[in-house]
Amino acid sequence: MTDSPPLRLRLDGAALADNWHALDRLSGTAACGAAVKANGYGLGARDVTGRLIAAGCRDLYVATWAEAEEIADLCAGRSLSVFHGVRREDMAAAIDSPARPCLNSAAQIMRWREAGGGACDVMVDTGMNRLGVSVREVRDGLLDGLRLDTLMSHLACADEPGNPKNDDQHKALASLSERTGAMRMSLANSAGIVLGKKYHFDLTRPGISLYGGAQVEALVPHIRQVAFPEAQVIQRRTIGPGDTVGYNATFTADRDIELAILHIGYADGYLRGFSGTGGARFGDAACPVIGRVSMDLVAVSVDAAPETREGDWLAIDFDLPAASAQSGLSQYELLTTLGRRYQRSWYE
Ligand SMILES: *Cc1c(COP(=O)(O)O)cnc(C)c1O
Repeated sequence: MTDSPPLRLRLDGAALADNWHALDRLSGTAACGAAVKANGYGLGARDVTGRLIAAGCRDLYVATWAEAEEIADLCAGRSLSVFHGVRREDMAAAIDSPARPCLNSAAQIMRWREAGGGACDVMVDTGMNRLGVSVREVRDGLLDGLRLDTLMSHLACADEPGNPKNDDQHKALASLSERTGAMRMSLANSAGIVLGKKYHFDLTRPGISLYGGAQVEALVPHIRQVAFPEAQVIQRRTIGPGDTVGYNATFTADRDIELAILHIGYADGYLRGFSGTGGARFGDAACPVIGRVSMDLVAVSVDAAPETREGDWLAIDFDLPAASAQSGLSQYELLTTLGRRYQRSWYE
């Protein structure tokens, strides 16, 4: 087996730690946790968890029990919570796990009580209509007697600072502050942290911004890029006027163009939204994507760097806010679809 794949993902550990420190500062007196679900947003759950804990993070969140199991040893002495709670088939793993469930429905709460489950979190739905018990159920005493660590809710529109729904959701959660025996309350994801102090409660739960995402302008100056895909040139060619490039011949040259064929494509999470819009760099030279992205390959113009040769490496433009604008994909999709073919290496 070869150990030198034609594409690599450089991961900046210092940027990850700096992003957590920035979000921790922005969270004021609230603790700053970290969502490491979906394999650490595609970057590697164990790698990001170890680094975030070393940075000082004490509250980790995953979506499933399999994800909890994968990092449980790293989280010893820290708090680990499973957003999706306990389905019937999760109970055996959940009861034995050092992680807490975040219970989402009356049925899950009953299941947890009947099994004699210990500390838990609860999600209350304040307007997203996704997971969670209702504000009314909490008022009516559904949580009474639970060993409740964190009562949390989740914002539907945190990336729209002007949306009045944010304030509605804040009010709904705040209205429960005296109603339960929860040790802590939590509302804000990454973008929620910069909505204002009142959104912080006791604990914030950023995810995407740890990994370089900035959904709102207010986060941009604080957040650094963490994931840097690079792809190798596997062929060079020159095309002339009238030549077309790629599937469906969507690009036709009107002049001579120097092309480099890079070993990256939609199977690597470089989805077709980058067709004709994405870019790469060779040193400082900008190398725009030409034509459609294929499964494993993409063509870029190296007119600005004609010295590029087979075997050279190009850095893919992957600043998340910019790449999202180019591709029409969300910053979350850009990270979580990165494929398995990259040689991943952390530096710092
Ligand atoms: C994923 C998730 C987060 C993190 O959200 P980001 O937008 O990535 O910061 C926080 N809370 C819940 C409930 C989540 O599912």
